[in-house]
Amino acid sequence: MSQALDLIAASSGTPASVWRASTQLQQLPRIRLDELAPPGCRLVVVAPHPDDEVLACGGLLASLAADTRPGLLVSVSDGEGSHPGSLHWTPQRLRTTRELESRIALARLGLDLHHWDWQRLHLPDAAVDADELAARLRNLIRPGDRLISTWRYDGHCDHEATALACAQVAEQLHARHFQAPVWAWHWALPGDPRLPWSQALRLDLDEAAVQRKREAIQAHASQLEGPDPVLGEQLLETLLQPFEVFFP
Ligand SMILES: [Zn+2]
Repeated sequence: MSQALDLIAASSGTPASVWRASTQLQQLPRIRLDELAPPGCRLVVVAPHPDDEVLACGGLLASLAADTRPGLLVSVSDGEGSHPGSLHWTPQRLRTTRELESRIALARLGLDLHHWDWQRLHLPDAAVDADELAARLRNLIRPGDRLISTWRYDGHCDHEATALACAQVAEQLHARHFQAPVWAWHWALPGDPRLPWSQALRLDLDEAAVQRKREAIQAHASQLEGPDPVLGEQLLETLLQPFEVFFP
């Protein structure tokens, strides 16, 4: 667990310009929106913290905004652990604030909460247990669902536990599962052998979807403020590239 978080702390972050210059990233095989989220499939997004749904796949969600099919967003933790030891951002304040931020962000993505079910599981931030989460997900996920989660080796223990739980449940229930990197954009470099590039698929986003994602990220103000914000400018710039990457 701590080893994974060390991966994030040990890196000063990969500049967005480095990712932009990557020909490998430019040449990744494309996946179309209707392949990633086929009509008739319920999309289930499992986010370890309230903002990962935007950071990992906000462009996908924005692209589906006009779609009226039902979806399910699972917020695994309340994100109360983002500012350990802070006197201002106490766990209780974070719980309340981050739920509100998510609500605003989802509206900015254009997600209609009449069609989307939003389940908040309140598992402990920074201590998400994959088995416990899998047990909870088994009651929420149905065969044929299309699951999206963070990536199994993303470098944050909760992102990894969430991916593991989703993979287990997806296999049991015959649901397809895609994983999207978040923190890997911070600590990895293009071509980094720790990432499964040979399987990676790229969903291209139009300008409107990127703009909605940008506005949705801005809603997560608690993660952006202060001299040393949780989400740094470099990472944000990378996450606003005109595509998202998914590992099947
Ligand atoms: Zn997260």
